[in-house]
Amino acid sequence: MYKSIFNTVLISLLAMGCTPKEEKTIEAPIEQQQQTPAITNCLIIVLDAFHAEHSSLYGSKSPTTPHLEKWAKRGVTFTHAYSQATQTLSSAWSYFNGQYPYQMQELTFMRDIDTPLPALFQNRGFKTAGFSENPFISKTYKFDKGFDLLEYKPYRVGIAQTVQQLSSGKKAQPKAYQKYQRTGDVTVELINKADDWITEQKADPWFCYLHLLRPHNPYFAPDPFFSQFVEKDGIDNPEEYYKQFELEVVDRYYGQNKGYAASSVEPLLDLYHSNIAYVDHLINEFLLKLETKGELKDTVVVIMSDHGEAFGEHGELLHGKPPHREQIHVPLVILFPETIQIPNHTIDTPVSLMDLAPTLEQLFDLTITNTIDGFTLNPLIGNPQTPHHQEIFSQHMASKTVALRQGNRKLLVGFDDDFKTIRLMEAYDLKTDPKEQSDIFSADAGYEDMLKSILEYVKTRINSEAIYDLDLTAPEKELLESIGYGEMVNN
Ligand SMILES: [Zn+2]
Repeated sequence: MYKSIFNTVLISLLAMGCTPKEEKTIEAPIEQQQQTPAITNCLIIVLDAFHAEHSSLYGSKSPTTPHLEKWAKRGVTFTHAYSQATQTLSSAWSYFNGQYPYQMQELTFMRDIDTPLPALFQNRGFKTAGFSENPFISKTYKFDKGFDLLEYKPYRVGIAQTVQQLSSGKKAQPKAYQKYQRTGDVTVELINKADDWITEQKADPWFCYLHLLRPHNPYFAPDPFFSQFVEKDGIDNPEEYYKQFELEVVDRYYGQNKGYAASSVEPLLDLYHSNIAYVDHLINEFLLKLETKGELKDTVVVIMSDHGEAFGEHGELLHGKPPHREQIHVPLVILFPETIQIPNHTIDTPVSLMDLAPTLEQLFDLTITNTIDGFTLNPLIGNPQTPHHQEIFSQHMASKTVALRQGNRKLLVGFDDDFKTIRLMEAYDLKTDPKEQSDIFSADAGYEDMLKSILEYVKTRINSEAIYDLDLTAPEKELLESIGYGEMVNN
């Protein structure tokens, strides 16, 4: 019954909400015209570097996102949403285009042949704007494609040098992290700009993309959020605490020895949680303002992240690391106007961020012309039993690592030497070990098909000849031969 109700509503959305206001050509059923307002606008809010596990909406015991919990009741929460990369650039390129990253490169520019989400909306007659604190979501990386306006504002001191170093193919120098201070509160500034821009859009349908560098580090939130979450350890000044823990830990981590004390993780987590709670508060205020102005009655709002964040689960901090769960498991919540009945508020099926583009394509009658790898989420929202992705890949270039999730199984393969060597294979049973703490890989554990899929993925994405000059143990070599890659193995 729910399914049919939701499908009817969706049909109505497609009919009424898809076209710019002055061009409605498809008639919706009469009863739906009376009951359901058009969905006219789309707002995407990205909270950078947010591992879903740290949201109280996703079961965190720390009360980090009370407001998101409240808003989620008028929409759908995807409990298992995964990013396709562990750093912003490839991940954002992927969900902007509904495809896996086009190559395994850290620097993933928007290309001439790409038609990213903002361009799809622009082509359909929407006004489009982006507001970004993230240096990658900027004109430098051609992410302005399809935006009438893309405003980028650096969130921290020293970011200009870092971006310049990365742009020229060099690694950012650890020294840059010594200037690791936020430049005032750009988050608030950008939210206000987005609010103003939305308010200015009178008759036209609009698409707004807001990319905030919170909870991304520096995990530096003002009071009362600092006081609420952070154990003071004798320090009651947030800035001092931040300098002693985060700055020192992060600097050491990026420095020569890569080390950090295990005892540092807890204070870092407290800071991270305070930063999540702060941005939860800011987003709530933003949405309440929009609601007061009547902007939410015909707007779909997507709240998500571009990748996760690590706190030592696999020995790493931050993000841009091999795609273990904490690097790729992100919040994904889609809010619909209150008048639209949502049959299922929680979807547990694994989904990917690439699914956003085809979902919005359907809701707003956009036209995607490129081949896409994502699948629309709308049938799942109508009926959680609908089959969805069989496989979800995630990648990390610097470590040349690709992970594949298939049902409750996960295989992670790390390459070396221009992908000529497999240097590691890890396998996890996600049903019994969702946090991926116990590697069960062995050559006879039955992961042949998944390995084959990963090798195909790499072959396609690195745009290369089959170059597996593999340095393998005898059982591993046998495994590759058994799945048809024997000819690629150089002795
Ligand atoms: Zn990011």
